[in-house]
Formats: sequence, structure tokens, C-alpha cells
Amino acid sequence: MSDSLKAAFDLKSYEAVLRAGLDGGYQFVSFGDIGKERADRSCLLRHDVDSELLGCGGMLDVEKSLGIKATYFLMTRSTAYNPFSVEGTAMVARMLRDGHSIGLHFMGERCEGKNADFVIEEVQRETRWLESEFGTRIEAVSFHQPTQAILDAQIAFPGLVNTYNAAQMSPYFYVSDTNMNWRHDHPLDIFERAIHPRLQLLIHPMWWTPQPLDMLDKWRKVLRDNRQAVVDHWQSRERTLANVKLIADDTAGPGQRA
Ligand SMILES: [Zn+2]
Repeated sequence: MSDSLKAAFDLKSYEAVLRAGLDGGYQFVSFGDIGKERADRSCLLRHDVDSELLGCGGMLDVEKSLGIKATYFLMTRSTAYNPFSVEGTAMVARMLRDGHSIGLHFMGERCEGKNADFVIEEVQRETRWLESEFGTRIEAVSFHQPTQAILDAQIAFPGLVNTYNAAQMSPYFYVSDTNMNWRHDHPLDIFERAIHPRLQLLIHPMWWTPQPLDMLDKWRKVLRDNRQAVVDHWQSRERTLANVKLIADDTAGPGQRA
């Protein structure tokens, strides 16, 4: 596989990764399937959605075209998006319609200094919010920036897979695109050479833009798109905002204006 595909973080490269998985005989399974896999090779395709819920359409298109199912882990407390908003529920409904699963992406910093009982109660509460809103079963929780104490605690949540619980995740090998940096083999190599027959692949949708961009520009894009979504929402509903320019041109981005 070409090095340029491996270096790129765009949807074309993402598609190549998934195709390599299919070609390599990997079955894409959900977290509820752990221990019940029917194929020799399986992949848990995990998406932690930190800021980019409304921007997941391109990734969904790619997965749908290949018939691949993933689990989208959603925050209920993201500052950047609201899964219960008009636009958020539409995107989540699309995920479910396409056959994907929904997980809980829990804000790890809320656990600072708290004991395991508190964490379990909070995770169960937020899980119920998602389940009752979207009428689907939540099978797993992933932590956003978990504290070391949370990692060390290896909490077992009743009825939920904890993606950072080593015993529950065994024998899945964990590979992540965190900060656009693969600390292990590139997933293309893993799939092509079947280096890990059980693979948990964490892909953050915001890194896989339609066009290649550097990391800061990917951040600018997701923040700008979220801001635009808020403006579009109100401008289409409030006559007092019609024909008003609400967002200044800042294509250079805030970092370059400073
Ligand atoms: Zn996260």
C-alpha cells in the first residue's frame, strides 16, 4: 500500500483502510458481539465523537458504501454539540438507520476525585438518557480523557463494556488515530498482514476530512462548521435574523489573527 495513503488523514484514505479490512477477511462487529465472533478476524470500529457530531456525514457515506458497521460513541455533555438538538437527533437517527451502534463517550474530567460508585451512577444515568431518547441499547462506554485513577480502577459497569477495561477488551488489540499519530502499526498494514486478528480501531471522525488538512485546520473546520450550524438554525427560524451577516469572515482562523 502506498505511503501517501498511509500518511493522509482524509476520507479517501479512510475508505482504503476499511477496504483493506474487508479484503483481509475482517468482520466488523459491535461491542455486544465480543466473545460471540463468528469469524477468525474481527474489528471493533469505534468512533469517539468529541466535537464533530454534525460533521459525521462523510464518514457515514464511506461506511454505508462498503456496508461496514461502526459504533459511534456520543457525548451528552460536549460543549461543541448537543445530540438531543434538532440537528443532532437527525444525525444520530441517520447513524442508527445505517445500522451503526451508539455508545456513550463519557467526559472523564467529571470523575476527578470521585469514587467508582459515583462514576458508575453517572455513566448509567447518561446511558439511560441516550437509550430513552434514541430507543436503542447502549452496549459500551468510552471515556474522554480519562484520569489515571479511572484507567487504574478498571471499572466494570453492569451491562456495559468499558473500552478501557483490559479484561473486557481482551483479546482485542487497541489502535488509535489519537492526534493523527499511530503509535503502533498503521491499520492498513494490520489489515493487510492480519497482524492482529482481533482489532479495536479507534477513529476520531474529525481527523478524516474530505480533503487533507493539517491538524490545526481540521480543528478550525470543525469549530467553524459547528458555529455555522448554530447560525443556520436560528437564521432559518427567526425573522429578526434574516439577511443579517452573523459570522465575520475569518478563513485565516483565530490562531492567525492573534
Ligand atoms: Zn474523546
